[in-house]
Amino acid sequence: MKFLVTGGAGFIGSAVCRHLIENTEHHVVNADALTYAANPASLEAIAGNARYRFEHADIRDRPRMLEIMHTHAVDIVMHLAAESHVDRSIDGPGTFVSTNVVGTFELLEAARAYYADLPDERRAAFRFHHVSTDEVFGALDLGGGLFSEETPYSPSSPYSASKAASDHFAIAWHRTYGLPVVLSNCSNNYGPCHFPEKLIPLTILNALHGEPLPVYGRGENVRDWLYVEDHARALEVIATKGEPGRSYNVGGREERSNLDVVHAICDTLDRLKPPESGEARRTLVRFVEDRPGHDLRYAIDASRIEAELGWQPQETFESGLERTVRWYLDNEAWWRPIREGRYSGERLGRTTTG
Ligand code: NAD
Repeated sequence: MKFLVTGGAGFIGSAVCRHLIENTEHHVVNADALTYAANPASLEAIAGNARYRFEHADIRDRPRMLEIMHTHAVDIVMHLAAESHVDRSIDGPGTFVSTNVVGTFELLEAARAYYADLPDERRAAFRFHHVSTDEVFGALDLGGGLFSEETPYSPSSPYSASKAASDHFAIAWHRTYGLPVVLSNCSNNYGPCHFPEKLIPLTILNALHGEPLPVYGRGENVRDWLYVEDHARALEVIATKGEPGRSYNVGGREERSNLDVVHAICDTLDRLKPPESGEARRTLVRFVEDRPGHDLRYAIDASRIEAELGWQPQETFESGLERTVRWYLDNEAWWRPIREGRYSGERLGRTTTG
């Protein structure tokens, strides 16, 4: 199969491209606009592979996306390109509407035109896989409950509202135009090549440098964490075996409060690279003013993908976190340029879960 992966130079997209090239026989075309969140270094391991191609392209450019689909004769469009950072969406929601809502609309229209021209024998396998987040469902109580595929949408942030809108467009293109759309909503990912504005990489790098570890509120917000390579495997299964018109929740059954996550990172780092000061890194935690509209808890019921598609996560939170911390210790060349100014975001000093 030939996959068109949008946003393949980002955190999850690059894990998907590496997975498809290194662990399967599929071909990959990666179309990415290379925003601040992209990092071509995340693709170095596969850049020279004959089954991999890169196209510098913006999903909002419908003719260009259609041309890419035709040129590479793609079978599956896996759509990850997005603005993905909740804090940025609060500061400037317009880009999120433009990329996540309008961009998804333009890509759906390109896919609809492409699908209409496909010969019958290639139509059966074609899928438009829209990759989304559990944040579209809103917040759960600390007491219990899980997001299922039937949970009503109730987004809280401009980011999650833009993703919710794009999910509705994708499913509408299936119901109205018959485009074979599959949708997935996943919990928080972590792992290698994660841009250091997000909670886990930010905490690892600040802790490594003996800098304060900002935590929103009292660190009580709970997220369900999934190792990014487990998500990449889930996405391949959904794109190739999922039923058109159906959505699949993906999660790790690994709920942790933000404070527990930060403490776990500190303890892992203390063990792998003892602090020169001799002082446990947990002492670096600083509570900061909470994010507006901060959802209290997200938790995923992943029983549909487990039962229907046979997917299971392979990493626990502890094993995945250890792999992640080791990756950041071993890959300074990847994150050093970002920390030293190529990325100038004022938000680096804050922490986030989105
Ligand atoms: P990311 O911010 O790391 O990467 C996004 C990528 O999209 C970047 O490479 C960027 O250059 C590209 N991009 C942005 N605008 C584009 C445009 N107009 N045209 C083409 N490319 C463009 O994001 P991520 O964390 O890897 O998330 C990928 C997808 O998965 C998103 O759709 C996100 O909503 C979803 N998701 C993320 C998580 C998570 O925990 N990170 C969880 C569930 C779902």
